[in-house]
Amino acid sequence: MDFLKLSDMLFPDVTVTPDELELKYPERCLPEGAKVTRIAPSPTGFFHIGGLFPATVCERLAHQSGGVFYLRIEDTDSKREVQGAAAFITKILDYYGLRFDEGVTADGDKGAYGPYTQSQRVDIYHVYAKKLVAEGRAYPVFSTDEELDELKALDKKAEIKSVNWEQDAEARREAMLARRQFTMEQVEAELAAGHKFALFAIADGDPEKKIKVTDLVKGLLEIPENDEDVVLLKSDGIPTYHFAHAIDDHLMRTTHVIRGEEWLPSLSKHLMLFRYLGFKPPKYMHIAQLMRLDENGNKKKFSKRDMGANLEDYRKMGYCVDAVNEYVMTLLNSNYEEWHTQNPDKDRLDFPFSIKKMSVSGCLFDTEKLNDVSKNVISKMTAAQVYDGVCGYAKSEDPEFYETLTSDRAYAESILAIGRGGAKPRKDFATWADVKPYMSFFYDKYFTRDDSQPEDKDKEDIKAALQKFIDTYDENDDQSFWFEKLKDIAEQIGYARETKLYKKEPEKYKGHVGDVASFVRIAITGRQNSPDLYEVIKILGRQRMTDRIKEGIKLL
Ligand code: GLU
Repeated sequence: MDFLKLSDMLFPDVTVTPDELELKYPERCLPEGAKVTRIAPSPTGFFHIGGLFPATVCERLAHQSGGVFYLRIEDTDSKREVQGAAAFITKILDYYGLRFDEGVTADGDKGAYGPYTQSQRVDIYHVYAKKLVAEGRAYPVFSTDEELDELKALDKKAEIKSVNWEQDAEARREAMLARRQFTMEQVEAELAAGHKFALFAIADGDPEKKIKVTDLVKGLLEIPENDEDVVLLKSDGIPTYHFAHAIDDHLMRTTHVIRGEEWLPSLSKHLMLFRYLGFKPPKYMHIAQLMRLDENGNKKKFSKRDMGANLEDYRKMGYCVDAVNEYVMTLLNSNYEEWHTQNPDKDRLDFPFSIKKMSVSGCLFDTEKLNDVSKNVISKMTAAQVYDGVCGYAKSEDPEFYETLTSDRAYAESILAIGRGGAKPRKDFATWADVKPYMSFFYDKYFTRDDSQPEDKDKEDIKAALQKFIDTYDENDDQSFWFEKLKDIAEQIGYARETKLYKKEPEKYKGHVGDVASFVRIAITGRQNSPDLYEVIKILGRQRMTDRIKEGIKLL
């Protein structure tokens, strides 16, 4: 068959040659060892928390090596596309600090290797489609979309290995061989009738033979050669992922393709296409899907339907960006936590991220661990940083609280400063959403009495202690003198002035100074637990302290 003629018949409008594209998208001028990485999400309006892991690896590898990290939008599946999704992706990733050097941005494309949205690259794909036809590597299939869908279904089954795998494989093979049989006249007639065609690449592999390929995390893999013809273009002329991947990652000069493990079964197809196209394949890293623990503590895939699957949820739940990123890094590199303990003042981005320290089996997402990391991160912040963080969150998620906070910044900051800055800072907040319940009693409008005075203590003693506290309170007392006065009150009502005295001879006392402090705390804050009581009273002021205690006495 005259393949050159066939290629002209199928792609009469393509005049550009692969060589011209090579010149247009030349090798990048980058320092030795610089890595070019990308993430290539489909614009579905949803960004899975699991996507943050490969994205972080890509960003670190590129920026650590003086390379390029770019965003490509893979919108070849128009059924899944959601309007404005590309803008959503750039926004959410920008929010997480994953700055792209190149690619799709909220203001259009940036960089010399675009367009970076696949639907705008159809002409480019057709150049290579024509080349493969001309070389006898690809052939057209004139089918209705339904027929192609059936083919696709078979293709899918091939990847998942269905129960009827053997039969399916046989049926597929026969169908494939039949598809390859056609004459030039048939093609001419189909084209003349205005029929559309899909384009397939002829597989030349022998599945009995293995290709050796190194995955950067999984190591040396041996995968069977591909013996299934690969759909390159669908009948609307739009490429499949396989074809677009090979062309885009070559022309955009990607050095490292870091993607989900679900692409591993297609790797032999991809390597075949790179070979047919005369491209050097990139280095590959296939990342295992993110796992989570179910209610029974068993490992499960973190599916799209699971609570907390959408990265956007974490912002809404009030997790701070630093905490999420810190957590992601902890899971990605086993030595990160140790490094961070040894270098407490260094930035996360100073950490020498290493592929070697990545786990082969993938990451297990554990909310408790995330909360721990997050508490640590927030505990190291200044009161002003916490204030800004919580305001940023409340502005969209709790506007009324935002108003409250911003109406008196100094007051809010003084509350947030309690227990902050020392060697052992308080770890009260895992998310910004935890801040409001923590500080609500400082605001009269939110103040509620959640805990009442202990039932096992004499009410008259409690009343007496509270009254004495008001009577002796002096805002000029320093903390130790203030506490001495509390001890005096304890003694006056028959309680031990030291806890240890009480513990030694419990029969001698009705309680101890800690109980007295608790009476005061409950009367003032409405709870058994609060930050440092001395500081709390200082912030609330004498008047409010007195009012609340008096009201507390009345309730007894
Ligand atoms: N669009 C593909 C996906 O979302 C990208 C995979 C890749 O990174 O190559 O799975």
